[in-house]
Amino acid sequence: MPTRNREIDACPGVLATHQAADGAVARVRVPGGQLTAAAFATISAGAAELGDGTIELTSRANLQVRGLSDGAALSTRLGDAGLLPSATHERVRNILASPLTGRDGSTDVRPLVTTLDRTLCARPRLADLPGRFLFAIDDGRGDVAWLGADVSALLTSEDSAAILLGGQDRGLRTPLDGVVDTMLACAEAFLTFRTTEWRVAELTNGPDRIAALACPEGHLQDVECPEGHLHGMGPGRVGQADGLVSLVAGAPLGWLDRAQAAALVDTAAPLVVTPWRGIVVADLTPARADEMAGRLRETGLLLDPDAPLARVTACTGRPGCAKALADVRADAAPVPDTTLPVHWSGCARRCGRPRGRVVDVIATGNGYTTTVGDS
Ligand code: SF4
Repeated sequence: MPTRNREIDACPGVLATHQAADGAVARVRVPGGQLTAAAFATISAGAAELGDGTIELTSRANLQVRGLSDGAALSTRLGDAGLLPSATHERVRNILASPLTGRDGSTDVRPLVTTLDRTLCARPRLADLPGRFLFAIDDGRGDVAWLGADVSALLTSEDSAAILLGGQDRGLRTPLDGVVDTMLACAEAFLTFRTTEWRVAELTNGPDRIAALACPEGHLQDVECPEGHLHGMGPGRVGQADGLVSLVAGAPLGWLDRAQAAALVDTAAPLVVTPWRGIVVADLTPARADEMAGRLRETGLLLDPDAPLARVTACTGRPGCAKALADVRADAAPVPDTTLPVHWSGCARRCGRPRGRVVDVIATGNGYTTTVGDS
């Protein structure tokens, strides 16, 4: 199995893994975070039998399997389960979506996610997008539109959307049936301008140039975008519009161990990976939700919004990352006297840091420094 050349594009996939200090890492793209329990069971079994048993949740709502002994066997299993629909485009299927979309009374953007994914994979040129290029479709609540995606669609009504570029609103608007084509036109415009840049935000005047090329007639409208809230949702229980219940289970420090993954498989419910290192267990009857909450809590998953680790995240650190100056996952803990998210990093790169205002705890090789900052 090839390992990607970092000078070309360091983002791993399943077909091109990343060689970490603790073995090969495969990143499984999960467009919109939406997974059936059966698909998650395939990933979980792959992690248990071919990896070190852990599943890592990323800030792009993708899943990573670590310590792989046989990456080819994993890709075969995932392919058979329909999780690798395009060998050429597998690393560019980075699509965030509002995790509760269509379930709590909001407009359902899941069909848009499906169409975006299929259309993206059908356009050969878009296989050249960097593996870190990110799309987002926000159902209007403002939870994923402002997470720094390169191209975001933010619904402004039931039949229209704002298109944001590099997290910036340049007044680009489209009817709902034009969302996918407009988003992909923007991605193609990025490829036209790109030389060595990985992201829209790295291009000089990127949002303006992309908007002008992708929509030359101009669809600029004076429509307000909903405000964003970057830190999304924490653990808890959410009532659905159909009377059913979704449980939001937080993964401590963003990793699922074998028992936690097995408990999620056992729910046999639709799952949604969130960009806040959680898993939504959806469409449960209230009684089933009570039962499942108890079982998930027993494994150490976070079900309570005020759980001490609910807003604490960490990078890989030692021993998995060769750059790490500390075993941050062993050291990570809540920071007293703050309600902000806290992110522990093994070096100044701060991989996996949440967006927005965050308490950063960074290893120095001689302890940690603690600062508060925005991004
Ligand atoms: S922040 Fe540093 S130590 Fe942590 S995963 Fe990234 S490179 Fe490794």
